[in-house]
Amino acid sequence: MQALSIRNLTKTYANGVQALRGIDLDVAEGDFFALLGPNGAGKSTAIGIVTSLVNKTSGSVKIFGHDIETELEQAKACLGVVPQKINLNQWDTVYNCVYNPAGFYGLSAQRSRERTETCLRELQLWERRKETARNLSGGMKRRLMIARALVHEPRLLILDEPTAGVDIEIRRSMWEFLRRINEQGTTIILTTHYLEEAENLCRHVGIIDAGSIVENDRMSAVLRKLHQEVFVLNLAAAVPPDLQLNGFNPVVLTEHEIEVEMHKDSNLNRLFEALSAAGVQVTSMRNKTNRLEELFMRLVERRDRERTREVAEPEQQL
Ligand code: ADP
Repeated sequence: MQALSIRNLTKTYANGVQALRGIDLDVAEGDFFALLGPNGAGKSTAIGIVTSLVNKTSGSVKIFGHDIETELEQAKACLGVVPQKINLNQWDTVYNCVYNPAGFYGLSAQRSRERTETCLRELQLWERRKETARNLSGGMKRRLMIARALVHEPRLLILDEPTAGVDIEIRRSMWEFLRRINEQGTTIILTTHYLEEAENLCRHVGIIDAGSIVENDRMSAVLRKLHQEVFVLNLAAAVPPDLQLNGFNPVVLTEHEIEVEMHKDSNLNRLFEALSAAGVQVTSMRNKTNRLEELFMRLVERRDRERTREVAEPEQQL
């Protein structure tokens, strides 16, 4: 069963910006999935559509098989959302911030009380239940939003940059909690620009850039690709038929051009030895840019900028 299934989803905003250019995405039940992408890539737009905050232009979205257009109530019942911006009713008590939404999902008063207590305890907020939300620290408010999102026991939890601007200790305790509920069966999708977060938590990753999905694979496979380098070699003579290069798998590009992929740490001499053994003379060689690496560099640059800002103005403490 797919927890989320997106087909040919497009979004053009009223100002003409094409934020999504026809994306397809599947997230299997039980997965822990990261949606990565540089600023302005379309992550929030995609999440906004899935969570019914943004209207799509075309395409389809199904949550556990329920189309958000034709079966919105059923789709929503499967879904818990933790938005990027804190959107609590700040004058409510901590307790009511979780208890009131439970009613919207049709839980009985008794069940709402039980679930509110469970969720507040799990997020270590039970002792603070009588205080107003505005008295909580930033980290606690984020935990309260997670408790609120889980009150109706959603099968899919979506978190939009859950740890942006949160200090490292809170970040790690959130990771631990998310890992635990994923192990217990909740499918989790998060958007993040902390690569470390995606690497630590997620089994699969989708990378979106300029409104298109450019990678969708296992986290380990994406990391492996990141460490590959591709060389384009120009040959003095035509590429021999059935060229064998001792373990390297050359791809023939043109009559005089081949492409060889290798790990960043591997020894180039070995490649040249294999070329010599095959009687191939190389006239020039260039390194093909690794698009994935460029994307990650843009993510890292953004992360570093935000870290600098965090140090300058620490947002919150426990
Ligand atoms: P991300 O979450 O990856 O940073 P967004 O989905 O927020 O990306 O933005 C994708 C593109 O859509 C950007 O070019 C952004 O400026 C544009 N955009 C986002 N929201 C709106 C809006 N409400 N109106 C017009 N353009 C928008």
